[in-house]
Amino acid sequence: MTASTSSAYIGRFAPTPSGYLHFGSLVAALASYLDARAAGGRWLLRMEDLDPPREEPGAQAAILKALESYGFEWDGEMIRQSDRHDAYAAVLNRLFNQGLAYACTCSRKQLEPYQGIYPGLCRNLGHAQDNAAIRLRVPELEYRFIDRVQGEYRQHLGREVGDFVIRRRDGLYAYQLAVVLDDAWQGITDIVRGADLLDSTPRQLYLQELLGLPQPRYLHVPLITQPDGHKLGKSYRSPPLTEDRAPPLLLRALRALGQKPGNELEGAPVTQIMSWGIAHWDASLIPRTLSVPEAQLS
Ligand code: ZN
Repeated sequence: MTASTSSAYIGRFAPTPSGYLHFGSLVAALASYLDARAAGGRWLLRMEDLDPPREEPGAQAAILKALESYGFEWDGEMIRQSDRHDAYAAVLNRLFNQGLAYACTCSRKQLEPYQGIYPGLCRNLGHAQDNAAIRLRVPELEYRFIDRVQGEYRQHLGREVGDFVIRRRDGLYAYQLAVVLDDAWQGITDIVRGADLLDSTPRQLYLQELLGLPQPRYLHVPLITQPDGHKLGKSYRSPPLTEDRAPPLLLRALRALGQKPGNELEGAPVTQIMSWGIAHWDASLIPRTLSVPEAQLS
């Protein structure tokens, strides 16, 4: 490894093509983009296409088109996680051979009573890798970090998560492993993303520590909720972003992030809204929670 020659800002946007971009993704992408550009940094694009069975046909192309029409300009070529399997395999095998990860043959049914916290049933059974999930052993420790918007976040990996999957039984690599390896490989200094990933961060901190990788700064953008408390999560999604609505939705996303563009930007093209956003970006204005009425999401 060569030492990093500069600590210049490198940010990224890392969409999963299991669906199209919606208003919530626009808010996260915009925060990441403006934070990078306002710092004079680079902004990279990474397609997290780890799970072909769950990929929505046409989503990759639609995501790129939406980003372009909303005025996002990424640096260099987009990378795809589907091109990175050799790198994931190398690290996974190393962890397995060192006994830091192990094969798990538990069925979903067997794990049902444990409510998502793996109780370590296969920890010391020495199963072979074939037809098994691979889990990373976690320490009985609390991991904590200071998020730039959400403040201090702590999670006890042993009690709240348990040994977690880094390669699924069907051979697909898990998000947690791929994201950590790729962020380090791409030299990412600043991760700005949705708060749905706040509770994944301690797992990622542990992997960084284990692999001797640098720890980026984190900013988790609030999730959008409806005034009735509904999240824009998996069960409820705002409609895909459409090109014709780009300027007003970009302006709305900027306001959702606590920024204060004036009325002179109403009706302005996306390039002008983006320029204003970069020039006036103030991450300290981002609210910790965010409620947006459904009518304003498209
Ligand atoms: Zn097991």
